[in-house]
Amino acid sequence: MARQSKQYPTRISGARALVLAVLAVLTTACTSSGNVQSGTSKTPVVVATYSILGDLVADLVGDAAKVIVVIPNGQDQHEFEPSAKVVEQINNADFIVSNGLDLEEHLTDVLAEAATRGVGVFMAAEHVTLRKANAELTDAKDGAELTDAKDGNDPHLWLDPITLAEMIPDLSNELGKALGLDLSDSAAQLSLRLATIDVKIKEIMSTLPRCALVTGHDSLGYFAARYGCQIVGAVIPSLSSSAETSAGELADLKTAATQANVRAVFTEMGTPRAVVDQIAKEVGVKSVELRTHMLPAGGHYGDVMIQLATSIAGALK
Ligand SMILES: [Zn+2]
Repeated sequence: MARQSKQYPTRISGARALVLAVLAVLTTACTSSGNVQSGTSKTPVVVATYSILGDLVADLVGDAAKVIVVIPNGQDQHEFEPSAKVVEQINNADFIVSNGLDLEEHLTDVLAEAATRGVGVFMAAEHVTLRKANAELTDAKDGAELTDAKDGNDPHLWLDPITLAEMIPDLSNELGKALGLDLSDSAAQLSLRLATIDVKIKEIMSTLPRCALVTGHDSLGYFAARYGCQIVGAVIPSLSSSAETSAGELADLKTAATQANVRAVFTEMGTPRAVVDQIAKEVGVKSVELRTHMLPAGGHYGDVMIQLATSIAGALK
């Protein structure tokens, strides 16, 4: 047995040598395809529209590609307007990963233009099961309406790791093809991480007897559906934080929040804090800020979701 153990390093070295040989062949192949500058392979560039998508794409490609996030982390995807530099980055990308469903409202035309120029554009929303805003309400009235509806689909698909995981096979295939990489291993690892995040969120949310949400805008539909929360309403009753609200809608929200006996009013980027604080005061509960559209400093997608669940569970206890 001991002699066999001693043989392993030799065998691993052999495998490493094989990997190096394959890499050398691949490098030569890239070089001969013309994707080269001064004898050095050019690293392909993948543009991700926002930071959370960029984090997932970076997980998939590792060091094999450079990932550029065009909407800076912390800026509102619904509001971001591209500079000339961003338009250039998008047009020069080897592949683009976007959300779709008008989340990146002001990038829609630029992305369509890049696609017509032949740049591969992956839209996450085309590869997951979509939900409508307040779908549970619509569902109760008319289930058939859900599947037929083309408008009003909720773009906040990243706020449920299981929904997000649905796109990983297609994303890794299309991205891999565009870059000439086999991403199946990293895709399997990423899918596993997303499943683990889901389990952790379930554990956190299981500490709550009841989860009734008032949010900044209609951003938590996927989260609520996955983790058994009720959406009572939103301060900005729209899928986009760039929409506006009215005095009548705010009055209705206060009534609904009071009737639902909510424990907190949540707010997020793009919602006027003063309005949220006023509603919370009138309902007699606290207001709590959630980070729904951005990565924490130095953090990853999993941190976004665990922090979100922890904040919600903490506020509603
Ligand atoms: Zn949003």
